Amino acid sequence: MSENPTAVSGLLVPDMGQPIRPKLLLVDDQAVNIQVLYQAFSADHQLIVARSGARALEICAAQQPDLVLLDVVMPDIDGYEVCKRLKADPATCDIPVIFVTSHTDEAQEAHGLDVGAVDFISKPFSTKIVRARVNTHITLKRQSDQLRSWVYVDRLTGVYNRRFFDDRLKSEWGRAARNRTPLSLLMLDVDYFKRYNDHYGHQAGDMCLRCVATAIQEKLQRPGDHVARYGGEEFACILPDTDLAAATHVAQAIRANVFAARMPHLASDLAPVVTVSVGVCTKLAVQAGTAHDLLCQADVQLFAAKRGGRNAVCAAVLTPSAGL
Ligand code: GH3
Ligand code: MG
Ligand code: MG
Repeated sequence: MSENPTAVSGLLVPDMGQPIRPKLLLVDDQAVNIQVLYQAFSADHQLIVARSGARALEICAAQQPDLVLLDVVMPDIDGYEVCKRLKADPATCDIPVIFVTSHTDEAQEAHGLDVGAVDFISKPFSTKIVRARVNTHITLKRQSDQLRSWVYVDRLTGVYNRRFFDDRLKSEWGRAARNRTPLSLLMLDVDYFKRYNDHYGHQAGDMCLRCVATAIQEKLQRPGDHVARYGGEEFACILPDTDLAAATHVAQAIRANVFAARMPHLASDLAPVVTVSVGVCTKLAVQAGTAHDLLCQADVQLFAAKRGGRNAVCAAVLTPSAGL
């Protein structure tokens, strides 16, 4: 390759100043096609290869490539369907997809763009042109990631913010309803936090919220789990495809982890350390209701945990007819 790797797109990791090699997923059932793309990109990109649509979907969910070069005709799930599924999943919908195919007619290309691809490249292709297009889309992806992080990240704690939470809860609710999967929501509130501020000062209070955010994050294991700062000293966790027992287990693990962090709180009635109360609510696999119901009922459970003495978890299945 004649190009200087660091000059390909000039991409930088935010706050680190280090150029990084973009991660590309090559999807094709024919080894010879993979080979051509491999040669075009191996010098300056991290490459992952998938030989089937199903494998491509798994890799996207687990490894979040920066871009996917996707074949259309494959024996299991065809490229259009792979692209549709990527775009329907909030965890993968922002990964740009470019079709690389020997289909050359206008209708096929229009269909590829309709199902959410950013570009459509016909074989045989010029390596130079494919590289240029890929790098343009990776640059655009990085820029939109950066914008999303400004829009969606809470400045104080570094976890997601309320705006992200509202958007994500809506999309996860839709997905759980479509796929008939459970969805759990955790609402967490720091106990006696007003006293903490009064005793230790507001700046120490801010530091405490950062530590609580970290203690929560440490106990979220799956890539689809997300924590957001809901407001003040309240956090919310969205746990897709998680039933009541598993969500309660996560909530207990978070509560114990905050306790184990042993952040001093001498003004608390409960213990000399910072504690949290957690409310859990779960939508069952098949259940009516709305995302708003789920939120309200997780809040009801949080109140129950507070009333029951704090440093506790209360959990319930969603009841759509609760009349909230
Ligand atoms: P409870 O155990 O019932 O939850 O009592 P609490 O004192 O935690 O609840 P309350 O709602 O009375 O007080 C919450 C406090 O959280 C009051 C507010 O000053 C503090 N707070 C909210 N946002 C921030 C923040 O960004 N930084 C700091 N340091 N404090 C905050
Ligand atoms: Mg509160
Ligand atoms: Mg509180």
